[in-house]
Amino acid sequence: MIYDVAVVGLGPAGISALKLLENSGLKILAVEKAASFPRRKPCAGGLTPKAYSLLKELFPELDSVVRKRVSRFLLYNSESKAVLPSTSVLTYLTQREELDAFLFNSLDHSQFDIHLGETALTVDKGLDGIVLNTTRGSYRVRVLLVASGVNSRIARQLGVSRDIGFTYESYVESPFEDLIIDFTGFRWGYYWAFPKGDTVTTGLGEFRDKRVTSSFRELLSDFNKKHGFKGKVTWESGYPIPAGKSKNDVYRPYVLFLGDAGGLVDPLTGEGIYYAVKSGMVAAGAVKQYLTSGDLEKLKSYETAVNSLFGEEFKWARVVGRLFFSLKGLNFFMIKRSRSVSELAAELLSGRLSYRESFFKYLKLLPGVFIGR
Ligand SMILES: Cc1cc2nc3c(=O)[nH]c(=O)nc-3n(C[C@H](O)[C@H](O)[C@H](O)COP(=O)(O)OP(=O)(O)OC[C@H]3O[C@@H](n4cnc5c(N)ncnc54)[C@H](O)[C@@H]3O)c2cc1C
Repeated sequence: MIYDVAVVGLGPAGISALKLLENSGLKILAVEKAASFPRRKPCAGGLTPKAYSLLKELFPELDSVVRKRVSRFLLYNSESKAVLPSTSVLTYLTQREELDAFLFNSLDHSQFDIHLGETALTVDKGLDGIVLNTTRGSYRVRVLLVASGVNSRIARQLGVSRDIGFTYESYVESPFEDLIIDFTGFRWGYYWAFPKGDTVTTGLGEFRDKRVTSSFRELLSDFNKKHGFKGKVTWESGYPIPAGKSKNDVYRPYVLFLGDAGGLVDPLTGEGIYYAVKSGMVAAGAVKQYLTSGDLEKLKSYETAVNSLFGEEFKWARVVGRLFFSLKGLNFFMIKRSRSVSELAAELLSGRLSYRESFFKYLKLLPGVFIGR
C-alpha cells in the first residue's frame, strides 16, 4: 500500500499538519515514538499571544489546558531587577505534557493510521516518493512530513543544516504567581521560572551554543535557590534546542521538515511552539497543492514560504540579540530606567511587536532615556 502522506512525530508541528489534513480524503500515516499521551517533552509550556491565537484557531478548546495567564514579567540581571508590566496577557502558561495530550486527543483519529510506540529510523528514495523505515516496518509514501523534533534522525540522515543550543530544565514543587527571566552570566540565553499553579517550571539555556557545560545542573540549582524555589524537584533533564536562521533548510525532494526538525525556533527567546504550529499549517497547504497538481515545485514552495514568514524575524532576532547581550548591563539599565523601554520589551517578549520594529523603536527611544524623558 502507498500512503499519500506520512507524518513522523506528533508534537505541535505534526499534529497541526494533521489537523489541516483532516477531511482531505488522503491516505495518511502518523508515526510517533511515544507509546501513549501524555508524554514528556522538555519545554516551559509558555504560549505567546500569537502562539495562543494560532493554536486556538485550530483547537478552540485550548483554554482547557491553559493553567495561568501572566501579565507581568520580573526581569533580573545580577542583583538588578526590573518589572515589565502590561495591560494585557504577556504569556499563556500550559504544562507541556497536558498541552500535547490535548492536541493529540483533538484530532479525528478515524481519519489517520496512527502508530504509537513506533520510531522512524531512516528514509530511502522511492519511485515518485520516499520509503520510510521504522522499528516496525517500511512504508512507501508520496510525501513525508518530518516533525520529530530537535533530535530528528531523518534530519540528521539527510544533512539538514541547523544551529543547535542547549537547555536544562526542572519541575519544582512551589506555588508561585509571577514569571521570572534572569540574564545573569549568560552569553546568549537566560534562566526562566514559569508558574503552573502548584509547580514551577524552571530552566536555563544558552540558545546558540551547543557546548554543554557539566555545570548546567548546578547552575540551575543555584538560580532556583536565588529565586526562592526550594521545593522538591520532581523532574529534571538537559535537552537541545534549535536556533532559527534567516535561511532555513527545510526541504528535500518529497520531504518537508517542520518545527524543531527544521530548526524553526526563535534564536533569541527559544520560542518554538508558534513556529512548529505555523510550519505544520504551511506544510499541509503545500502537500495538498502538490498532491492535486503533481508539480513538485508546489511542495518545494514550503521552504520559500517558511523563509519568507520566519527568516526575516529570525535574522532580526539575532541582530537584537547581539545588541542586547553585547551591552547587557546598559540595556538592562534602560529597561529599568524608562517605562517606554520596559513597555517596548514587554511588547517584544509577548510577540506583539516584531524584532525589526522593536529595534528601530528602541533606537528612537534611546536619546530620551539619556536626557531623562
Ligand atoms: C527546555 C525547553 C523549554 C522550552 N520552552 C518553550 C516555551 O515555553 N514556549 C515555546 O514556544 N517553546 C519552547 N521551547 C521550544 C519548543 O519546545 C519546541 O520548539 C517545540 O516543542 C517544537 O515542536 P515540534 O512539534 O517541532 O517538536 P516536538 O515537540 O519535539 O515533538 C516531536 C515529536 O516527535 C516524536 N519523535 C521524536 N523522534 C521520533 C522518531 N524517530 N520517530 C517517531 N517519533 C519521534 C517525539 O516523541 C515528539 O512527540 C522549549 C524548548 C526547550 C528544550
